[in-house]
Amino acid sequence: MKYMADRKESLGEFELIQRYFSKQSVSSVSLAQGDDCAILDIPSDQSLVFSIDTIVEGRHFPSSLKPEHVATRALGSALSDLAAMGAKPDHFTLALTLPAIDEVWIKSFSESLYEFASRFNISLVGGDTTKGPLAVTLQVHGLVPKNEALLRSGAEAGDGIYLSAPTGDAKAGLELLLKGWTEGSDDEENLVNRFLSPTPRVELAQQLRAKANACIDISDGLISDIEHMARASGLMASINLESIPLSLPLSRLFPEQALGFALQGGDDYELAFALPRSAGSLAEKFGLNQIGTFEAAEGESTIKLLERGKVVAHQQFEGFQHFGK
Ligand code: ADP
Ligand code: MG
Repeated sequence: MKYMADRKESLGEFELIQRYFSKQSVSSVSLAQGDDCAILDIPSDQSLVFSIDTIVEGRHFPSSLKPEHVATRALGSALSDLAAMGAKPDHFTLALTLPAIDEVWIKSFSESLYEFASRFNISLVGGDTTKGPLAVTLQVHGLVPKNEALLRSGAEAGDGIYLSAPTGDAKAGLELLLKGWTEGSDDEENLVNRFLSPTPRVELAQQLRAKANACIDISDGLISDIEHMARASGLMASINLESIPLSLPLSRLFPEQALGFALQGGDDYELAFALPRSAGSLAEKFGLNQIGTFEAAEGESTIKLLERGKVVAHQQFEGFQHFGK
């Protein structure tokens, strides 16, 4: 688009795209990059699964965030959405809004983006570049065999509720960063990295496709996202607090807040999913943590928390404040 656009930059828009965002595609589907549109042919037995997310400086990430971490957070969280559907990442587009052409920033961002993308076999196939307050929009596309996508709505009463890995670390990492953390112990670094560079559970998701009845990725917080899955499935999630896994770094550095962070922290990008009893061997193979069970809904309530078998809280979110958010 040309109207009102500022074309008098030291490095032109086309040169910038050419230099930093035009590497060869590794996608399995046929594409054309650098034309007006990208093209893909979807295999006839697959469905295309896609999702778009924008992160804006100062709103979704602090201004101090390094460009390499802007890239890993943006792509890590986007790929987590594909994992939640059981989809295999295939290709993505990038809409980048930059306040100025800062080549040092763009180079680090681009290198980190391509490195992360190659780890998950996803190709950048197009995008848009504009001037304005720093914002990154990614649209990710994945493929899933027809009718096999994992939905939030498929859980059944009696299914176990499982987690791909402990939650709460990212929230603890963010707390450290907000206090000005730059370097420190291995435990601290571990937590900070869980915030800066989330690990989308893409591989596990492929295994879950044939086994899980429902799945969601945890972006807003464990309780809140499991509540979404329970509501979509018309069930109630019964969660055992003593079964909530806590990582060693989290319980060592934040002993008081660990459980609260794990339940409500957000930014984890782990998967929560419903497995029928018959899928127990998968849980064992991947060392998955069962944290509760889906039960028939009780009136309006979609989630209850139990401590040694006793109900300590029902759905009302105000009730969870004492977990220390
Ligand atoms: P148009 O004006 O026709 O929309 P653009 O100048 O926006 O064309 O883009 C030219 C080509 O460069 C397109 O193929 C587009 O997909 C690609 N492109 C633009 N910005 C990016 C970006 N940030 N990352 C990857 N590809 C990009
Ligand atoms: Mg364009």
